[in-house]
Amino acid sequence: MEKTDIKNLSYPELEQRLCELGEKPFRARQVYGWLHQKLAVDFGQMSNLSIALREKLAESFVLTVPEPVEVRVSRIDGTRKYLFRLADGNVIESVWMQYHHGSSVCISSQVGCRMGCRFCASTLEGLERNLTAAEMLEQIYRIQALTGERISHIVVMGSGEPFDNYEALLRFLRMISDERGLHISLRNITVSTCGMVPGIRRFAEEGLPVTLALSLHAPNDEVRQKLMPIARSYPLSAVLDACREYFEKTGRRLTFEYSLVKGVNDNPKEARALAALLKGMHGHVNLIPVNPVKERACARPDKKAIQEFRVILEKAGIAVTIRREMGRDIQGACGQLRRSFLAETSGDEKEGG
Ligand code: SAH
Repeated sequence: MEKTDIKNLSYPELEQRLCELGEKPFRARQVYGWLHQKLAVDFGQMSNLSIALREKLAESFVLTVPEPVEVRVSRIDGTRKYLFRLADGNVIESVWMQYHHGSSVCISSQVGCRMGCRFCASTLEGLERNLTAAEMLEQIYRIQALTGERISHIVVMGSGEPFDNYEALLRFLRMISDERGLHISLRNITVSTCGMVPGIRRFAEEGLPVTLALSLHAPNDEVRQKLMPIARSYPLSAVLDACREYFEKTGRRLTFEYSLVKGVNDNPKEARALAALLKGMHGHVNLIPVNPVKERACARPDKKAIQEFRVILEKAGIAVTIRREMGRDIQGACGQLRRSFLAETSGDEKEGG
């Protein structure tokens, strides 16, 4: 039987497993603290445990730590993009951003993605596999250890669709907010979805005070279907109903992400339709001027068009922010760094910037 990755075990599960190994329940607190607070990389570090217990743990479990294979630091804003190699050799990317209110990590939830959004680099090679909860946690643990900065905020907005990996996502959220671990408030966590309606509804039932971000990207089904294959499975009316339900059940205001793609969804007509669509919804729009990906024929609108789009929404009473471009010089867009890394290591032509 394959050994369990010890960082996939929640506190009660760890306690149970240690009891089965003949240990007292209080040992769980020590071991969990080593793993999820002191961010130990090896059982040998657990100095307040007997050598015999450390050996027993090493025999019963694996403790895996992703290895940073590349770090890029933005000269513009200090944003850091990390490429991590997982135990099975897959690589994933995570981003660290510093804001005035603290520091935030954007994590991946899958290796690759199967959603096929037209402008996105993460999905170009399809889905490789789901990440485990431990692999999601570790992106934060390693970055906190490497930067020496306490992470206060998390956005699940990297590669992958979090609701396509629901169980691991939930396990991750419970463990990262556990007071016996890093204890990051669920209120400081945002989960972004392309609009998988059953996932949104199920998530609403969990009653966690997490912010939900919906990748909207269009004010009607016709335009949305051009950009996002998932829109063929769930019409906008169903997606927005699920969002309303999320607000009602959790009291959390929503974020509507809208990546502006020149000539596709950036027209004043679309801005007006978007304002009408979102009237009365509890949330705000986050405009993201699209990050052009070389394999994708998606261009960014000019500044004037972006401003015009924003003003139309504001005049209609919709709250709008324009996403600050963090790490533009270090391939900040989803999946770009991983992709250029894969291309380099497989001998393909290297693409800069
Ligand atoms: N699968 C989730 C989370 C991943 S991406 C989702 O779809 O929400 C986080 C956000 O970045 C999404 O809104 C996604 O549509 C957007 N995005 C991806 N690639 C982009 C690009 N090249 N330019 C602008 N936005 C992009």
